[in-house]
Amino acid sequence: MPEAPLLEVDGLVKHFRLGGGLFAGAGATVHAVDGISFTLRQGETLGLVGESGCGKSTAGKTVLRLLAPTAGAIRVDGADIAALGRAAMRPYRQRMQVIFQDPYASLNPRMTAGTIVGEPLENYGIARGAAKRERVARLFDRVGLRAEQMAKYPHEFSGGQRQRLGIARALALDPRLIVADECVSALDVSVQAQILNLMIDLQEETGVAFLFIAHDLAVVEHISHRVAVMYLGKIVELADKRALFHRPLHPYTEALLQAVPEPDPQVKRTRVVLKGDVPSPLDPPSGCRFHTRCPIAEARCREIEPMIREVAPGQMVACHLR
Ligand code: SF4
Repeated sequence: MPEAPLLEVDGLVKHFRLGGGLFAGAGATVHAVDGISFTLRQGETLGLVGESGCGKSTAGKTVLRLLAPTAGAIRVDGADIAALGRAAMRPYRQRMQVIFQDPYASLNPRMTAGTIVGEPLENYGIARGAAKRERVARLFDRVGLRAEQMAKYPHEFSGGQRQRLGIARALALDPRLIVADECVSALDVSVQAQILNLMIDLQEETGVAFLFIAHDLAVVEHISHRVAVMYLGKIVELADKRALFHRPLHPYTEALLQAVPEPDPQVKRTRVVLKGDVPSPLDPPSGCRFHTRCPIAEARCREIEPMIREVAPGQMVACHLR
């Protein structure tokens, strides 16, 4: 029998109502996430990719319940946490952690690195005093930092070291799921590779699952087992990494992949150039949301929304023509 998923997101919706007043669009609804579904198994990394504004970060924050969902289910080990109150959410908060894009902004500059990493242990009553210091020293070692660095402040670390601190803090409570939101996009390419490899090693060691949110396809390819592609609040393709990168089926996935620079100048590619800008999530296009930019759109694409369905083993696509 296949292993039950750790996380099951079912029809998740997150809309934001713009406030009243004099601003343009006041009272309108932003359709940030509009009915997405996916699963994540223990020890697995699911990449969530798409252009800026496609709703991927909102999806991550809503899964963690940092934002309240508008509709849909978020099942963790089979229990729906979508509507749980503060107290009932507490044990789930321990199991689900986050690593942010900008570690500097998420680390308190007045606290030492050791205090920052040890804070969750104290908050959850797991360890204090010498026992806490010992656990924090072990966490520092696991993420490639030295125990002496516990006394330093965030500004004394490099960007890559700060992201190691963010990872150590996320790992402190032995979580089963970490949402990593653009966690390497602010780092140099060589440092990115070190952090991604550290995350892969930690996953092998602990079995933690990652929901890895990024716009950079090379980074997603490096770390993910499966990849979901988002466009204007919807998942348009979800597949194993190999299938998605070698045989993309959705025209939007094809266009995203062809926009990645080809390192070998000998290799000539036919580019699918996307027309126009991403439409506003305030008023998404009718039918298929991608029809205003799709190079192969037909008349029905303007009227009928394509449902996501399995078109090849393990490959789900939302397109009338695939
Ligand atoms: Fe393009 Fe139509 Fe497929 Fe949408 S449904 S991706 S518009 S062909």
